[in-house]
Amino acid sequence: MRTKQFKSESKKLMDMMINSIYTHKEIFLRELISNASDALDKLYFKSLTDSNVGIAADEFQIEIVIDKEARTLKIIDNGCGMTEDELDKNLGTIAKSGSFNFKQENDKIDNVDIIGQFGVGFYSAFMVSDKVTVESLAYGEKEAFCWESEGAEGYTVSPCDKTGVGTTVTLHIKENTEDEKYDEFLDQYKISALVKKYSDYIRHPIKMAFTTKEPVPNDDKDAPTEYKDVTEIRTLNSMVPLWKKSKTELKDEDYNNFYKDKFYDYNDPARVIHYKTEGQATYDALLYIPKQPPFDYYTKEFEKGLQLYSKGVLIMNKCADLLPDYFSFVKGLVDSEDLSLNISREMLQHDSQLKLIAKTIEKKIKNELEKMLKDDREAYEAFFKAFGVQLKFGVYNDYGMHKDVLKDLLIFRTSKEKKYATLKEYVENMKEGQDTVYYACGETDEKIEMLPQTDAVKEKGYEILYLTENVDEFALMMLGEYDGKKFMNICDDKLELDSEDEKKALETENEANKAMLDLMKEAVGDKINAVRFTNKLKKHPVCITSEGGISLEMEKTLNSMPGAADNKVKAQLVLEINASHPIAEKLKTLFKDDSETLKKYSKLLYDEACLIGGAGVPDPVEHSNLVCELMTNGI
Ligand code: ADP
Repeated sequence: MRTKQFKSESKKLMDMMINSIYTHKEIFLRELISNASDALDKLYFKSLTDSNVGIAADEFQIEIVIDKEARTLKIIDNGCGMTEDELDKNLGTIAKSGSFNFKQENDKIDNVDIIGQFGVGFYSAFMVSDKVTVESLAYGEKEAFCWESEGAEGYTVSPCDKTGVGTTVTLHIKENTEDEKYDEFLDQYKISALVKKYSDYIRHPIKMAFTTKEPVPNDDKDAPTEYKDVTEIRTLNSMVPLWKKSKTELKDEDYNNFYKDKFYDYNDPARVIHYKTEGQATYDALLYIPKQPPFDYYTKEFEKGLQLYSKGVLIMNKCADLLPDYFSFVKGLVDSEDLSLNISREMLQHDSQLKLIAKTIEKKIKNELEKMLKDDREAYEAFFKAFGVQLKFGVYNDYGMHKDVLKDLLIFRTSKEKKYATLKEYVENMKEGQDTVYYACGETDEKIEMLPQTDAVKEKGYEILYLTENVDEFALMMLGEYDGKKFMNICDDKLELDSEDEKKALETENEANKAMLDLMKEAVGDKINAVRFTNKLKKHPVCITSEGGISLEMEKTLNSMPGAADNKVKAQLVLEINASHPIAEKLKTLFKDDSETLKKYSKLLYDEACLIGGAGVPDPVEHSNLVCELMTNGI
């Protein structure tokens, strides 16, 4: 028999596990019971359609056997078992290898986190054992196999003579050390308490032979009481799935432990939604809104979905149809009375019950988020930092079909102390006569505050929404308006803050200087559509605005999307000159006396406007030559 090596990442994890200083070693039991329960589910599921299985529904069970002398703890199930090949594959590589890659990329995350975060499953057995033996007979196979390992050195797989279908995991419990009392994992009371704590809801019975001392009846009242050992088989778990219990029975801790165990999160959830419905659709739902996105949430590997149970039996691990994309961060499960156990994926998609359930789930999640927004602003803001992008994509996607569901869940930082506001709050705070919701885009709040237009809008007493994420402006465009108030980018050329008289005066000024402005536009070239005087700038000499609905930020985002290379979008830009800045007079003089210098100034002013707008100078060499010329000749 040859000793096989663990796949390299498993080996590292194994090292970590064996040498862990992890204080929660006890979770190994939960992990092994959970594996056994899954194996029972698989075979039970099969037994519904395959009479050859030959195990009655109430015979599926997990048994725990303690042998203090031999220092072994056995977890025995009569589930689906593993073939030779499966023993090798499943226990020779870490199942969730994605999690390990993540760990390597993020060295900050220490061992404790990785164990807590991903639930390392079977490997946790090595936190308490110096040897682990797994004997298994897979359903439908004739020969049983035994997997054995003493840790990082490797493992062996060889035939063995187990008879019944299922798996026996034997842990050879470590000797006590100065700091660690491994003995407690051979104590029936401790094991029983651990089962109660972590695995109470497992729907198969977890049985253990319990030995207690009972007084021996004696007629002689004066004789000292004698005790004898009485052994009885007890079922340690209540077997009622957590979601079937009533809310009053459950503590936050129960909900949170269940969540962390089942959905591999190391944080408590932000919110729990637990409800039952009867009537059109009869089902229980237990939903969780996480605090933080899982590491793969914003990647294409992420799969949304809720666990789907039919009368307590898991029929699908990730039922995507139960969650809309914009709530894809929600974890949880649905247990329905009405679904058939043998329903196929294709049939599920067209199942009207399921559609009904999905509709209610969407409403419940929305209500919960609204409640959180109202009652616990701080928590909501933290939630929004983690998942707000998803809600904003939800507004934008499907041609805005879901925008009404989501619009009141959006929050944006605003120019008022850079606090978050909902669109409703913004509109309620609008100045009298204000009919527009103003927003500005930039990489950061600081960059937005440096935009030339920001000061002017603020000075008028208007609040500005600060949009710092690519999707933001697209979401607002999709909304179009809120409560009858349209949205406007402060960098849009249509931004008008002037009175009628001021507007008239500006129009006259632009008319009077048309020839000069045209010449300036020609000097800058195709990069802009026009040059104009403006009143909307305070201290800045120039700014860039866009006309025709596509802003500079949108241009950047659209052109960075995959496939955009052949089909570039272009914002229609206008170079605006502050009519009351000294530079305006200088330009007019140059137009009369020295049009060549005016052309150079035009280019420089355009560059300046780009710089202030956060876009960078399009031709740095030309810019630098012009500035040098200016310094040398004083043009
Ligand atoms: P996970 O359970 O998260 O997939 P584990 O490392 O705990 O990861 O287990 C790896 C795999 O080994 C399981 O997915 C399952 O296929 C198999 N397995 C573990 N324990 C058992 C068992 N008692 N019976 C049958 N298969 C098992």
